[in-house]
Amino acid sequence: MSQTYDYQQILNTIEESLRPYCNRGDIADYIPELAKIDSDQFAMSLCFNDGREYSVGDFRTPFSIQSISKVFVLTIAMQLVGEELWGRVDREPSGNAFNSLVQLETEMGIPRNPFINAGALISTDVIIQETNNAYDEILDLVRRISLNQNIKFNEKVANSEYSEGDRNAALAYFMKSFGNINSTVDELLRVYFAHCSIEMNTLDLARSFLFLANGGIVPYTGDVIIPAGSAKRINSIMMTCGLYNNVGDFAYSVGLPAKSGVGGGIAAVLPGEFSLAVWSPGLNENGNSLRGIKGMEIFTSLTNQSIF
Ligand code: GLN
Repeated sequence: MSQTYDYQQILNTIEESLRPYCNRGDIADYIPELAKIDSDQFAMSLCFNDGREYSVGDFRTPFSIQSISKVFVLTIAMQLVGEELWGRVDREPSGNAFNSLVQLETEMGIPRNPFINAGALISTDVIIQETNNAYDEILDLVRRISLNQNIKFNEKVANSEYSEGDRNAALAYFMKSFGNINSTVDELLRVYFAHCSIEMNTLDLARSFLFLANGGIVPYTGDVIIPAGSAKRINSIMMTCGLYNNVGDFAYSVGLPAKSGVGGGIAAVLPGEFSLAVWSPGLNENGNSLRGIKGMEIFTSLTNQSIF
């Protein structure tokens, strides 16, 4: 079915039809370094398991992947401790903002899922505790799956977020008070902000999600990242928790497992077929890319390809 569409034409049409939405939405200016970004930009990349790749717009421009890194740290944490992880973090949608503290008190310091900030702090804590160098571990994985050895942290963005990181610090201290964090809060935040600051363009990002569309194996290289069963589970958590409190609406309008970040990126997969990445920095009130969601909605409507 996938061969019957002119995908380049579809991406061009999406870019064109989203022009009227230029400048809509708000930049994530709570991270001072991200406040400087030009909100006009838009890019989309599509990679198939069989090697076909299509891109449109500013797809060579790197951007801050922010919460999309939560998928990468979850992947590593699952490799390191397996099922044990689920004693420390749950797998239910939160229905709350990504940086909310409210559920943590009644739920004894166990975050609702790995894709809100508190949950990603748990994955990050696992990596710090179980490896010699958490930074290298994270960069190694991201370079392997994106097939780009030049992927780096952006120290300016990481430091900028650290300087305003009181809320994430509060989440970390709170979980530590329940015995659910083992690292020092300072080290935990440093590693967390570092992985949030990773920069990629949409083509890097689409490539780096292909292992999730291909049963845990990078299709271009045959590199086995995780067992097929773990890839399936990560996709299910993306479907139910990947867009914070927009997740129901995203399932309705797009219908793909996906993860968003406040840098304006969203990465999605259709298992067995493709990965799709979009970037546009203007965010809706839930911190998800406004044009990004619309672009993905148009894509799955025009191609009739979603998991439903
Ligand atoms: N680094 C951001 C934060 O912790 C990530 C949030 C996001 O992308 N939703 O607030």
